[in-house]
Amino acid sequence: MSKRDYYEVLGVSKSASKDELKKAYRKLSKQYHPDINKEADAADKFKEIKEAYEVLSDDQKRSHYDQFGHTDPNQGFGGFGGGSDFGGGFGFEDIFETFFGGQGGGRRRRDPNAPRQGSDLQYTMTLKFEEAAFGKETDIEIPVEESCDTCSGTGAKPGTKVETCSNCRGTGQESVEQNTPFGRIVNRRTCSVCKGTGKSIPHKCSTCHGAGRVKKRNTIHVKIPAGIDDGQQLRVAGKGEAGVNGGPAGDLYIVFHVRNHEFFERDGDDVYCEMPITFAQAALGDEVEVPTLHGKVKLKVPAGTQTGTNFRLKGKGIANVRGYGQGDQHIKIRVVTPTKLSEKQKQLMREFAEVSGQLPDENEDGFFAKVKRVLKGE
Ligand SMILES: [Zn+2]
Ligand SMILES: [Zn+2]
Repeated sequence: MSKRDYYEVLGVSKSASKDELKKAYRKLSKQYHPDINKEADAADKFKEIKEAYEVLSDDQKRSHYDQFGHTDPNQGFGGFGGGSDFGGGFGFEDIFETFFGGQGGGRRRRDPNAPRQGSDLQYTMTLKFEEAAFGKETDIEIPVEESCDTCSGTGAKPGTKVETCSNCRGTGQESVEQNTPFGRIVNRRTCSVCKGTGKSIPHKCSTCHGAGRVKKRNTIHVKIPAGIDDGQQLRVAGKGEAGVNGGPAGDLYIVFHVRNHEFFERDGDDVYCEMPITFAQAALGDEVEVPTLHGKVKLKVPAGTQTGTNFRLKGKGIANVRGYGQGDQHIKIRVVTPTKLSEKQKQLMREFAEVSGQLPDENEDGFFAKVKRVLKGE
């Protein structure tokens, strides 16, 4: 099933402002919230709306979406993009709280037992130039919080039960009465006994000490696609922190840092390098061997090649990370002026200079002729 366009989902134009997005989202999420809307497909619609808003309300995700559309999760990868923005889990509860909370008397109580998505995690990986160019497979260890195996995430010692908090009767909230000159005011606040969970655990699990979650090191096998570049990131879905109360896990974002190469430079999918040749090779022409990421390649340098001349080796660059072809390698020629000349070489150079004349360019349209004319004011 193909995904609907996010703008279409929210019923806004491509140029919608943040406020317009928020308004549209607020309206639709009220309309389709599964607690309110009892139609069979309300939950799916709500999910779709939430996802669309999640992407479009984030500048970076939005511009990526505008550019690439729905990224097809390819072998578990999605969303490549520059930079990073990790705000932690963008849980459904949180959005709801933001929108419906604090609106006078209509405040919705946050259900402490509602499923919440786990937080996203960020991992920085440094790659060698070649590793980024050709991709690689590797295992990484990620410290994560996961549901405790001993108590299956309940926090209670196996064989014992989680009880309802007697202070708040499971609501996670308590009322505090205050006498003021204007009368009695009842404030509701997070239950001070259960800290809002609504639960009481008389016999705590000895592994997680009642938290229901434990810190672990997760080994994750990662396939780094060929062509990944410095600053790009890879999303590994579902490999972030475990969800709470049966909610989905967050995602893992791997941010890449690519080391510089000794003499290759990279710009997008193209590789650049400088090739020194001798004065004689430049003047007479030659066939030289140039290094590329794909091995040595023979390059014909024509007679009379100047320093700074660029040659392009098609397809000898880096594979595009999204699979759009292959970059080129660019070679910039640098003619090296000889420094330590033997007596014989010097003699030959002098003879060469005599035969050629003192100036490199003496015809009418040449550089030196122009300089002379300018100086004479012609
Ligand atoms: Zn309580
Ligand atoms: Zn436990």
